[in-house]
Amino acid sequence: MLMENRKMKRACRDQWEAIVELAEGRVETNSASSHLSTCAECQGRFAELTRMFSVMAIPRFSAPTELQLAAKSLMPKRPQAEPIRMRLIHSSWGLSGARSSGQDFQAIYGHESAEVRMMYTLTEDGWEVTGRLPDPLWQAFRDETTLPTDDDGRFFFLIKSLADSGITLVGPTERLTVPAGSLALDEEFDGSNDRV
Ligand SMILES: [Zn+2]
Repeated sequence: MLMENRKMKRACRDQWEAIVELAEGRVETNSASSHLSTCAECQGRFAELTRMFSVMAIPRFSAPTELQLAAKSLMPKRPQAEPIRMRLIHSSWGLSGARSSGQDFQAIYGHESAEVRMMYTLTEDGWEVTGRLPDPLWQAFRDETTLPTDDDGRFFFLIKSLADSGITLVGPTERLTVPAGSLALDEEFDGSNDRV
């Protein structure tokens, strides 16, 4: 099982967010650049991320923060509608390297026009899960608690077990659940869902 595989080295883990940032093309160089030039494992992760981001054009956040906050304050905290389970659109789990390294993977879930990208990273204490809201009008919840987000709509939490990584996303008109990462691994992934 996952947890028994070797873990990401600390030096690599420290650079993980920066590597994601590079792969997304948000910056051309950062603190991970020199690490990448010497670490074959991270070069592999970087290649996988780049490939995934090129497949998925993630919409950028452009609304000013104040506008986002104002819009959020107008939203009901807990819509009563039954949540809809988001569909796995893309996972890096099947890409070369991810399955064998076994310590981190990414998955993109969608429902109609809403999409969320989740990243699961194995650490010494459990899993680090990061994600990004579909757009600034959404909020992410875990166990009824709002997950704090940064200006880019990113959220982050730590869990012992991948089975606890499910979250709820609440948008202006709907309520969606992101299944636990462990389910994403089990789900039969249909490559025809890829949007190229
Ligand atoms: Zn590395």
